[in-house]
Amino acid sequence: MSKLTGKVAVVTGASKGIGASIAEHLAAEGASVVVNYASSKSGADAVVKKITGKGGKAIAVQGDVSKSKDITKLFAETKQAYGKLDILVNNAGIYEFLPLESVTPEHFQKQFDLNVLGLLLTTQEAVKLMGADGGSILNISSIVGQMPVPGGAVYSATKAAVDAITVSLSKELGPKKIRVNSLNPGMVETEGFHSMGEFGREFRKVIEAQTPLGRIGQPEDIGKAAVFFASGDSGWATGQTLILAGGQRQ
Ligand code: NAP
Repeated sequence: MSKLTGKVAVVTGASKGIGASIAEHLAAEGASVVVNYASSKSGADAVVKKITGKGGKAIAVQGDVSKSKDITKLFAETKQAYGKLDILVNNAGIYEFLPLESVTPEHFQKQFDLNVLGLLLTTQEAVKLMGADGGSILNISSIVGQMPVPGGAVYSATKAAVDAITVSLSKELGPKKIRVNSLNPGMVETEGFHSMGEFGREFRKVIEAQTPLGRIGQPEDIGKAAVFFASGDSGWATGQTLILAGGQRQ
C-alpha cells in the first residue's frame, strides 16, 4: 500500500509550479487530490489529466483563496467529491519584489491578503472537514521568512508571518491530532520564478553562488518533501519549519 492510500488532500495554487508538483506527488502515493487554481483552468486540468493518466484520483476546483466565499466553495466541493479531508497544502502565494521607496498599500495588501489572511481562512475551513483521526497541514513558506532579502520586505514579512502561524496552530491544533508544518524553499524554478524575467535571472546567479549544492530547486524537490510531511512518516513532527534550499544559509 502506498503512503497516502485513502487520504484526501487539497493543494491550493496547484495549476503550475510547486503546487502542481505537490499535487502530483501526493496523488502518486495514493491520495485523492483537489487541484485548486485561481485563473489557469487549462493548467489545473493538465495536472488532473497527468494524475488520472497514471491511475490516480484528482479533480480541479477553481477558487481564489484570498476570498472567503471562494474558500467556502472550495471545501464544499471537496466534501461533495470526497466526503472528508486529511491533508491541506497551503501553497498558493504571490511574490513581488520592490525597493522601499516603491512599496504601496496595494503591494502590501495583495501579498498579505493571499499569503497570510488567505492561508488562515483556508486552514479555518479545512479543519472543519478533518475528522477524529486529525490530519496534516503543510504551509509552503519560504527561506526569506527567516533570511529576508533586500527588496523583499513585504514578501519576506508574509512568510515570517506564515512561520509564526505554523508554530501557533501546531500548538492549537495538536489536541485534535492535526499536525502543522512548513516547508521553506529557497529559489525554485517555476512559472512564477520565470515571470520575474531579468531580475530573476540575475538573482539566480547570486543564489547559486551561495548554495553548497550549486543549483536552485526544481518543483519535484518540494513535491517529494511534501509527501513526508503529509504522511505518517512525519507523525511525530509538528510546528516545524524546514528550510529546503540546497544548503543555502544566507
Ligand atoms: P507560481 O509558479 O507563480 O504558481 C502560483 C500558483 O498559485 C498558481 O497555481 C496560481 O494559480 C496559484 N494562485 C495564485 N493566486 C492564487 C489565488 N488567489 N488563489 C488560488 N490560487 C492562486 O508560484 P510558485 O513559484 O510555484 O510558488 C508557489 C508557492 O511557493 C508560493 O507560496 C511561493 O511564495 C512559494 N515559494 C516559491 C519559491 C520560488 O522560488 N518559486 C521559493 C520559496 C517559496 P493560477 O495560475 O490559476 O492563477
